[in-house]
Amino acid sequence: MSNRVAITEASQRIGELVVFQGWVQARRDHGKLIFIELRDRTGHVQVVFNPKDSEALHQKATQLRDEWVVEIQGEVIERPESMRQSDSSSGAVELRPKSLIVLSQAQTPPFEVVGDGYNIGEEHRLNYRYLDLRRPRMRKNIRQRHKVTTAIRNHLNNFEFTEIETPILTKATLEGSRDFVVPSRLQPGKFYALPQSPQQYKQLLMVAGFERYYQIARAIRDEDPRADRGFEHTQVDLEMSFVTRDEVMNFVEEMIKSLVAHIGGKTLTADPFPVLTYREAMTKFGADKFDAREDKANPNELAFAWVVDFPFFKTVDKGDVAEVRDGKSGWTFTHNPFSQPKEEFIDQHLKGDNIGAILTSQYDLVCNGFEVGGGSIRASDPKILRATYKIMGYDSEEIEASIGHMLKAFEFGTPPHGGIALGLDRLAMILAGEESMKEVVAFPMSGTGRTAVMDGPSKISPEQLDELGIALVSTEEDENA
Ligand code: ASP
Repeated sequence: MSNRVAITEASQRIGELVVFQGWVQARRDHGKLIFIELRDRTGHVQVVFNPKDSEALHQKATQLRDEWVVEIQGEVIERPESMRQSDSSSGAVELRPKSLIVLSQAQTPPFEVVGDGYNIGEEHRLNYRYLDLRRPRMRKNIRQRHKVTTAIRNHLNNFEFTEIETPILTKATLEGSRDFVVPSRLQPGKFYALPQSPQQYKQLLMVAGFERYYQIARAIRDEDPRADRGFEHTQVDLEMSFVTRDEVMNFVEEMIKSLVAHIGGKTLTADPFPVLTYREAMTKFGADKFDAREDKANPNELAFAWVVDFPFFKTVDKGDVAEVRDGKSGWTFTHNPFSQPKEEFIDQHLKGDNIGAILTSQYDLVCNGFEVGGGSIRASDPKILRATYKIMGYDSEEIEASIGHMLKAFEFGTPPHGGIALGLDRLAMILAGEESMKEVVAFPMSGTGRTAVMDGPSKISPEQLDELGIALVSTEEDENA
């Protein structure tokens, strides 16, 4: 379409005939004049239908309703200083229309899409997420998230990292949660697991010699849904070869600082980020995810800090299905079974002595009371990794079945390596000053584990079940029927 311009460009087109396409955000009738607030992805502008200019066009404008999609051709007019709205991105100009085409009508939206939307019920917002995402706050959040991922990608690319995708249909990897499983049609009775993280694949990429890997990766864990999170989350997952713990921490810290500077509007409580041992954090704050801000209500202050020297193992919580499964001996890992114990504990680790006292090379990054990342230097010596599983009560056969492929890979020339995963949803939430991660995810799951708009999970047909070789026992619904 000729002369089609974005609304924010209008102020540079005074006196020109332009075409805008967008949504009717509001219609106000003032005596004979009809004012339309027209919105596109860039902003909004006022269109004034005056019967003196065209009776027919004015008549047509009386039909317009909120959220209709229209194309309007008109002349850009400079508005008198006294009438400019301070909150409008194009308040300096308005459009005098010459033609109006209705591209799509809209039903009355189930809720208003102009306000912040905090007081609308979650299910309602998620059922109509495509409308909820029209509100300026949500569009800003989603765009800012894009800015965050772009800045991170650029930073990592500048340091010669390679972005590599790893499989979604994979085999269980211990990350301390229940796996989501996917039945295999071609091998009935067998199941893939969705990745709880790309942990093992990223380590295999280090064996492969990539040295610097990253991925904006989806991690899927069957944890009980909480108010602010569903089953999947996004990680900035990275791994580096030939690095020490401090080198990874310094690298990540610099990346975070450049990200915060790029986003703007935030101040760091401390630079460099303080490093506390787990014990110090517990003594000082009573938690390993602590909030070191003076004023805890100030969302523009970011109190990043590192926590190190965590115990490698903990006793299994009998109420936690994943822990009971992973820790057969009654001991399970606190963070990551693939971590390297701290140097001074390696002997003890290999012997399985004084297990509770072994410290891991794990480092967590916290900010404003949240854990925003965690990683470690990895056990790249098969003896050490095998010892970890032995401590958790795995016999040789179970070790082989669980991580035999990693132990084998490590026999073929493995660089020392380590990495981290940063929680992108959480980071984006903190940077946006929001209190729930759902406010920075386009289509989050509801608190009851239902997908936005599409209403999953859903039943599958008897034919599909048959094809997968699956017979259902009984479901709660059947029992209630
Ligand atoms: N795989 C770990 C996680 O998802 C992160 C890491 O150690 O790199 O938490």
